[in-house]
Formats: sequence, C-alpha cells, structure tokens
Amino acid sequence: MGKFMTSLCVVCLSLFPPAASAADESRFDASRERMVAEQIRGRGITDQDVLRAMERVPRHLFVPEHVRGRAYGDHPLPIGEGQTISQPYIVAYMTRAVSPGPSDSVLEIGTGSGYQAAVLAELAAEVYTIEIIESLGKRAEKTLQSLGYDNVHVKIGDGYEGWPEKAPFDAVIVTCAPEDIPAPLVEQLKEGGRIIIPVGGRDEVQKMVYGEKRGGRVVTEKVLDVRFVPMVKKSKE
Ligand code: SAH
Repeated sequence: MGKFMTSLCVVCLSLFPPAASAADESRFDASRERMVAEQIRGRGITDQDVLRAMERVPRHLFVPEHVRGRAYGDHPLPIGEGQTISQPYIVAYMTRAVSPGPSDSVLEIGTGSGYQAAVLAELAAEVYTIEIIESLGKRAEKTLQSLGYDNVHVKIGDGYEGWPEKAPFDAVIVTCAPEDIPAPLVEQLKEGGRIIIPVGGRDEVQKMVYGEKRGGRVVTEKVLDVRFVPMVKKSKE
C-alpha cells in the first residue's frame, strides 16, 4: 500500500506539476492587487488606465528569481549588473505623468528589466526602449516577448542619442539620470509631447523633471526628489 501510494503520488506530481506554481501565481496576483491598492491608489494615483496597467503586468516575472518573493514590495530591487528596477510607485508616477494614449508612440531610455516598458505597452500603441547594457537588454527583450508584448521594441545602445529613426515621439520617459536633459530627446519629442526624466549628478539630490514641448522647447517643472542610477554617457566621453 505504501509503495502504491508513493507511485500514485509520483504520478500525481508528474501529471500536475503546475499545481504548486499555480498557487504561487495566485499569491503573486494577490500581492499585485495589494500593491496597487496600497502603494499606488493609496498614494493618490487614481488614473484608471494606469491602475489597470499596473494590475496586469506580472512584475515578479521581470525580476531575478532570488528576489521574486519581494517583487511587490514598496521598494526598488536589484536586477543584475548593478542596476535596479524602480519602486512600483515611481513606475506608476512616471507613467501617469506622461499618460500614454492608445495611439501614442513612446520612447523609454533605460530598459533595465523591461517592466516599465511593459506598463507603457499596456497603454500606448508602440514603445521604443533603449538599454546600454547588452545582457540586460537581451533578457528584457526575451521576457517581453514571452509575455506577448509585441509592441515593445528593444535596442541596445546609448539612449542619450534617442532613436531618431522612430521619432517623433508623443512621450519620452527616462529611467536613468543624466546631468541635464539630453538635447536629442527634446528634438525627438513631438510638439505638445510630454517628457519625464530624473536630472542630477551622482552626488547631488536628483530632481524628477516633467516637461512639455511648446514652440520647439521643453517647458519644465520639478516634481519630486528622487534617486536613480546615472545615465552612462558612452558617446560623450
Ligand atoms: N526602467 C527599468 C529600470 C531602469 S534602471 C525597469 O523597468 O526595470 C536604469 C537602466 O538605465 C539601467 O539598466 C542602465 O543600464 C540603463 N542606462 C544607463 N545609462 C544608459 C544610457 N546612456 N542609455 C541607455 N540605457 C542606460
């Protein structure tokens, strides 16, 4: 009987291996709902489209396995190569700031894990995202493809230069901090387009800056003190 039970259980396990991961998935779903309720809506972001996008994107699949259990925590997380995925609230805040519409084309600088790109892809028509570290860009591309985000296009390169072949963009979102707003990004923004970008040197307090392009230049306002990884200036040095 003991032997029968054992072999029966082995059969059960091989027939239903996803049972454990389905339980994990529903735990992740519950954590994600709580994240949106407490960290995003709870902090005053009420835009339904942004909340829905944050509810849909499985953040835990964008982070390395060893930190997956903390994917829905109220903090940034390491994603390898010394880089980080932003705190969920910051992702929601930046998304809300540029409010991508269903026909918009959006440029993101700093693909990282691909998570912010996925959130944008829930709202925009096309998302163009540039990552300077090849291994991160390739991994993000794979994750995005496996989740069916066909409207995200990943390029390995220096985001300082933007993506002129795909310009102009309705919105630009930068998730690494340059010392000043890169001129090519302003050039590639449509008239009336929106940009959100953390600005500041390594040792100073960075400011999140929101801007709109009017009459060929960007009119900006500082909206938040933040801390992002620096924008690496490959082509400028
Ligand atoms: N948006 C990401 C988090 C970005 S972390 C996410 O959702 O996970 C910032 C990223 O910017 C890092 O991956 C870093 O390698 C990248 N980066 C830094 N300088 C860059 C540059 N000049 N061009 C493109 N990417 C850059």
